[in-house]
Amino acid sequence: MNQVIEMTPSYTIYPLQGKVQHYEWGGFSYLPSLLGINNEEKRPFAEYWLGVHPLGVATVLNGNEPVLLDTFMGQYPEKALSSSVYKQFGELPYLLKIMDVNQMLSIQVHPEKAVAEAGYAREDQLGIARNAFNRNYKDKNHKPEVMLAISEFWLLHGFKQEVQIESILAETSEFQVLLPLFKREGLASLYSFIMEMDQLSVTNLLMPLVKREVRRKKEGLLTKNDPGWWVAKYYHNENPIGDIDRGVFSIYLFNIAQLQPGEAIFQKAGIPHAYLEGQNIELMSNSDNVLRGGLTPKYIDVPELLANMRFEPVTPQIVKGTPLKDGETIFHFPVPDFALASLHLKEGALFEDKAIGPEIWMVLEGGVIINNEIVRKKGEAFIVFPDNAYQFRTSGKTQLCKAFVPVNSAYSQYEEN
Ligand SMILES: [Zn+2]
Repeated sequence: MNQVIEMTPSYTIYPLQGKVQHYEWGGFSYLPSLLGINNEEKRPFAEYWLGVHPLGVATVLNGNEPVLLDTFMGQYPEKALSSSVYKQFGELPYLLKIMDVNQMLSIQVHPEKAVAEAGYAREDQLGIARNAFNRNYKDKNHKPEVMLAISEFWLLHGFKQEVQIESILAETSEFQVLLPLFKREGLASLYSFIMEMDQLSVTNLLMPLVKREVRRKKEGLLTKNDPGWWVAKYYHNENPIGDIDRGVFSIYLFNIAQLQPGEAIFQKAGIPHAYLEGQNIELMSNSDNVLRGGLTPKYIDVPELLANMRFEPVTPQIVKGTPLKDGETIFHFPVPDFALASLHLKEGALFEDKAIGPEIWMVLEGGVIINNEIVRKKGEAFIVFPDNAYQFRTSGKTQLCKAFVPVNSAYSQYEEN
C-alpha cells in the first residue's frame, strides 16, 4: 500500500491560550487572578489577546503539540475560516482582548480602511520600519472596536455638544482665551490650535488648572463625571512637575461615558476616545493602527491625527445587546468583521449551538464541559472552527463571551444613530 494521505488538520474544537501584554497602564491583579498567574513581581497586566495579530498570536493547545493559531489556520485557511470568511477577509478578521485599565490610556483615533492601506504603503516607501517608534500604520487594516464592560467602566468618547464645549470654555478661566477662536471658526480649528500650540504655552496655560483640579479632588469636590477628577488622576493626585500634557485639553472636550457591566459601546473610525478605568472585553478588527493625541509617551503625529479625526459632536450610544435564547445576549455593529455575544448560564444548564465561521470563546466565570470531552474553566479560552456543533454543560454559575464573524444580513440590519 503506497497511498498518499493528505494531512489536513482536523478543524474541530480546541483549547486556546492567549498572549498577555504588559503595557504600563495595566492593573496588577485582575488578569493574573482571571488567568491563574502568580504576579508576585507586580508586573502590570494590561491585555490578554486572543487572535492572530503578529504582535501577539494565540496558541492552539493541540494535545502534546501546541501550535500558533495563524500557522494552524494557514494550513487550510478555507476550512479554518469557512469559505465565505476566507473569500472576504483571507484571515481571521477580528482580535478579541480582555483588558484591565488601571492608568488611563492615550487619546486616540483609528483610521478608515482606505487611509490605513495608503498610509501603510507610504510609510513602507519612506523606509520606516514596521516596528519603528514613529510608525503610524502597523498594518493595512482599519480598527473599528467595541468594548463590553466587565466592571463599571469609564472612558472618553467623542466630542461633546458644541453648547457644552462653549460653556466649558467660558467657565474655565484658563480656557476663556480660546472661546473667540471656537465661536469664530469651530471645533476643528480649536482642536488643531490646541494640538499645534508650542509646549511652553501649553504648560503655562494648563499648570494652574491642573493644580486647582488636584486640590479640588483632595477636598472631595470632584466625582468621576468631572474632567478634573481624571486630570488629577493622570498626575497621580499630586501637583505636576515639568511639562503638562496637551491631552489634558481633550479630557474637557470629550464626553465622559460610564458603562455598567454588560453594557457596550462601539467606536468607529475617526471618533476620538480614551479608556479611563475598569475591566472590559474588547473586540476589534485585526489591526494595531492607532493615531494618538496625548496622555502618552508614545509617538504622536499631529497632522495625521487631525486628518483622521471626525470633528463632530457625538452622543455616546451605550447598548445592552439583544437577548436571544438560553442566556445569550448578542451585540451587532455596523462592520462585517466581527460581532460579540455574552452568555450567562446557571449551574447545570445545557447550551447548544453550531459554528458557521470561526468562533473564539473565553470563560470569565465558572466552567463548561464541551461535548462531554473538553473542560474549560474561568480564565480559559477555546476556538470552535466552522461547521462544528457544540454542547456546553456548566459546572456552577458560568459566564462566557464569544467573538465571531456575523453572517451578512446581521450587520446590515444594524441601525446607526
Ligand atoms: Zn482605540
